[in-house]
Amino acid sequence: MPDTSQCRVCSGTVEQFFDFGRQPLADAFVTPGRTGEEFFYRMAVGACRTCTMVQLMEEVPRQHMFHEDYPYVSSGSTVMRAHFEKTAERLLDTELTGPDPFIVEFGCNDGIMLKTLADRGIRHLGVEPSGGVADMAAAKGIRVRKTFFEESVARDIVAADGHADVIYAANTFSHIAYVDDIFRGVRELLAPTGVFVFEDPYFLEIVQRTSFDQIYDEHFYFFAVRSVQEMAARHGLELVDVERLQVHGGEVRYTLAHPGARTPSPAVAELLAEEEARELTHPDTLRGFGESVEGTRERLLALLRRIRDEGGRVVGYGATAKSSTVINYCGIGPDLVSFICDTTPAKQGRLTPGLHIPVREPKAFADPYPDYALLFAWNHADEIMAKEREFRQAGGRWILYVPEVRVV
Ligand SMILES: [Zn+2]
Repeated sequence: MPDTSQCRVCSGTVEQFFDFGRQPLADAFVTPGRTGEEFFYRMAVGACRTCTMVQLMEEVPRQHMFHEDYPYVSSGSTVMRAHFEKTAERLLDTELTGPDPFIVEFGCNDGIMLKTLADRGIRHLGVEPSGGVADMAAAKGIRVRKTFFEESVARDIVAADGHADVIYAANTFSHIAYVDDIFRGVRELLAPTGVFVFEDPYFLEIVQRTSFDQIYDEHFYFFAVRSVQEMAARHGLELVDVERLQVHGGEVRYTLAHPGARTPSPAVAELLAEEEARELTHPDTLRGFGESVEGTRERLLALLRRIRDEGGRVVGYGATAKSSTVINYCGIGPDLVSFICDTTPAKQGRLTPGLHIPVREPKAFADPYPDYALLFAWNHADEIMAKEREFRQAGGRWILYVPEVRVV
């Protein structure tokens, strides 16, 4: 396998810095008895020598990932619901202030953010290719188009609804390899003084916390301020604001505008300076990240094997997409984690992709409590540990692996 590829943003050379080997699709939960039909690909990450964008070395065709049965539902977490309500309120206060503002969200999922705006009578449109979650949004009274966002779709929206004051995307833009088409669509759709706001996992956090489980097929790019600034400039937009967010294990919210339309906030230069001080995409930094990932694997496997050999029982908590990378890269099978409990009905009764750990409903967790719970949904640790207080009281212990392997 070649260890370079062509950058999807600038056509420069992407140099590989870590190879996770053969991986299944992170959200492709398997029906028992159909385990022979899984799709695998080689998952490796690299950084562009020219524009610094961190990206997967191989792209997975999008229809394999975002389809009728796509199981991730945004509204599952109380913390995320609060986050998106706050986001909507902020947009109402700062951007959606004109006489008849219009917002378009691509990857609107089940409408978790647009619901607040729809309730206030704001003109809106969600664009969502995954049919099941798009139907959930429609059922909440949200206007939604079941399609991928691209230039032709943007043109249709302008014809029907006019230009958008805000184009918003949460945990979506970094999923999309074909940025050229997205940017042409955004430039077409965005009003002259409008903003394109998106939030995605922050590569600096991934490196600092060794949260390598953010790397899976659906996340094609791993954004940072420098790479987003270059990408925006290359595509005729300007990065005018950045804000760090605590959700999903550490994200940044980026605000782009037409060049010269807004005065860039000092936050852009500040965060850029931090990335430079930490030499975020220097080959030594990236090599160090790889070594940390290997260290996590060794320590986590040693812990799980020790517990098994001592007769302890471990159950996984949260069959997240992120868990797929941990399970398949580390090689954690049902001999080490007997099952994973998860609130998503579409995952229950199925097997995790690749190594086939059964997924069961949440009530299985307490029936009876295991000795240890491996917290795959670590980004919701506070919310989950508060909810499962009785597990700790019954003597159970949590296993975490970000930023390091530990038992609490
Ligand atoms: Zn590049």
